[in-house]
Amino acid sequence: MKTILTAGKKTEEVAERPPAIPWAEFLEEYPPGSFVDVSGADTISSDDISNLFAPALQLHCPQPTCNGRMFFETNDGGDWLSFSEWRNVYLTYWCRNCRKTSKIFSLCIKLKKSGLCEAYKFGELPSFGPPVPSRVLRLIQPDRELFLRGRRCENQGLGIGAFTYYRRVVEDQWTRLIDEIIKVAKVLGTSEETLEVLESAKNQQQFSKSIKEIKDAIPPVLLIKGHNPLLLLHGALSQGVHDLPDEECLSLATSIRAILVDLAEKLGEALRNEKELTSAVSRLLKVQEEKAKKDETDKGEEVNS
Ligand SMILES: [Zn+2]
Repeated sequence: MKTILTAGKKTEEVAERPPAIPWAEFLEEYPPGSFVDVSGADTISSDDISNLFAPALQLHCPQPTCNGRMFFETNDGGDWLSFSEWRNVYLTYWCRNCRKTSKIFSLCIKLKKSGLCEAYKFGELPSFGPPVPSRVLRLIQPDRELFLRGRRCENQGLGIGAFTYYRRVVEDQWTRLIDEIIKVAKVLGTSEETLEVLESAKNQQQFSKSIKEIKDAIPPVLLIKGHNPLLLLHGALSQGVHDLPDEECLSLATSIRAILVDLAEKLGEALRNEKELTSAVSRLLKVQEEKAKKDETDKGEEVNS
């Protein structure tokens, strides 16, 4: 922080500006809502005028044909840039691969010197940040909105907000998480004894009591790096948010979100793998059965002839 002194009095405190960041990185990685010095946003035209440069970006495309980080391009840009006035700009980008997904940036930008601008992002559509997998939203469905609010806080670096939203989601939905774990355990043919432990944990009144019961009953396919995901979540939630700085709350919030996403993916994968295996086995059994029937008929025909 830098303190501004006017006539010997401390009047305001402003955060010191970090060094200029590359323009493409600002568009791809920076959340809306702050003034940032950017490099490489301007390009000099042949008549010596500075114009806005719109570089190709790498952004997430959710289309089934893309489903990952893809190159996005735009026909916008080229706006004349000024030292004295802010230019308000919309840039509409399209996925180069599928041409179906777009990303709109709403910005203002002003020239500071050649190669250096100051920029402000009003917003993005779809909103800033990596996408939330639909599987995790289905997993915590009744609290979907709270989770997305947590995601919004996390994207804007609001640690206490993000942590508080995610904590509410886990505290409200832990029985639903255990329910999904029980589904997977049943499909995987887990012993009756373990299923009883899981059911009893689900019926506890408190998450902390439930955690004690469940600790060794999670199917191994659902462990995250060898750890019980519910224990990890509980561990993160039991940190006292009152004493922690915002940055630490943010890092805890990010961990809670990452564990929820991973758990949702592992649950889905376990069910899908099991379904695939079951249908593969039944297909093979059918082939064997048909072959046995054919052999039997061939044998009968040989005897009759
Ligand atoms: Zn695409």
